[in-house]
Amino acid sequence: MDTVMTIRYTGEEKLLSECGKIISDLEKKLSVTDKGSLIYALNEKKEPIRDEEVVALVKKSLELSTLTSGMFDPTVYPLVKLWGFTTGEYKVPTEEEIEALLPYIGKDKVSATTDVVTASEGAQIDLGGIAKGYLSDVLRERLIINGVKSALLNLGGNVTAIGDKDGSGWKIGIKNPLGEGYFGIVNVSDEAVVTSGLYERHFVSDGKKYGHIIDPTTGSPVENDLLSVTVVGKSGTECDAFSTALFVMGREKATVFLKEHRIDAVLYTNDGVLYTEGLQGRFSLQPNFSSLPCEVIRW
Ligand code: AMP
Ligand code: MG
Repeated sequence: MDTVMTIRYTGEEKLLSECGKIISDLEKKLSVTDKGSLIYALNEKKEPIRDEEVVALVKKSLELSTLTSGMFDPTVYPLVKLWGFTTGEYKVPTEEEIEALLPYIGKDKVSATTDVVTASEGAQIDLGGIAKGYLSDVLRERLIINGVKSALLNLGGNVTAIGDKDGSGWKIGIKNPLGEGYFGIVNVSDEAVVTSGLYERHFVSDGKKYGHIIDPTTGSPVENDLLSVTVVGKSGTECDAFSTALFVMGREKATVFLKEHRIDAVLYTNDGVLYTEGLQGRFSLQPNFSSLPCEVIRW
């Protein structure tokens, strides 16, 4: 999944290799670049997917796409490719190139029934915005059924905690989107903490920064008043899709969405930090970021 993952737990050592196998098995199903993957076969050869796990995950992705009014959209892959985020051969495409792909974007271009996923002509799927969150839920479950009571999983910025650390919550740092270090800390137990931001995969062209999260309505990398979005909640899968979607929405729409669905999140905007009421007493700015304006989003 093109990232560093760390799994820390107290329990039997053999569980670690089981986790490793879960990770590589899922990667083999979902990778957009691995020629042997199920998603690759669907995208490049129109081969329907019948794998139960992938069918369920695509279904969930389409539901979350509906819930977020299409801001989370697993069909953005043709655009992700066009901008070069798949290969690292980045380029700023022309308006015509972008417009030519927009007709293939949208959740209605993919069908997921109980047992099969198909895509219409030209449509391609990328589960990169939800896969790590989903994986964190699967690993979490595996550890718990094997008796693990305390663990911390960090799947490239998707953090999941099991239980507590020495009787108090886990303190999770949220990365400064503008440089080194962590601007804030959130205290969690048995929850996921998932961040989407511009500082992750991006490139600079003519002094302008282009990030890997695409606004499905424009076909271009998101450009708004948010620098990062961190979502805190029980389901890693949902937190992952929401962090991507909220990042696309921008501050105003994201605030409305968070209130409407009572989702806990921390927004790093270009004029300060906002966090939801549910995180009061659990979120704090780091001392060297204490001058950042900080406001609570009330339900
Ligand atoms: P995340 O880091 O979870 O926000 O996911 C970003 C990744 O999801 C990108 O690298 C793309 O592979 C994919 N992606 C980009 N834009 C979107 C979008 N609007 N909806 C869903 N997935 C996206
Ligand atoms: Mg995501």
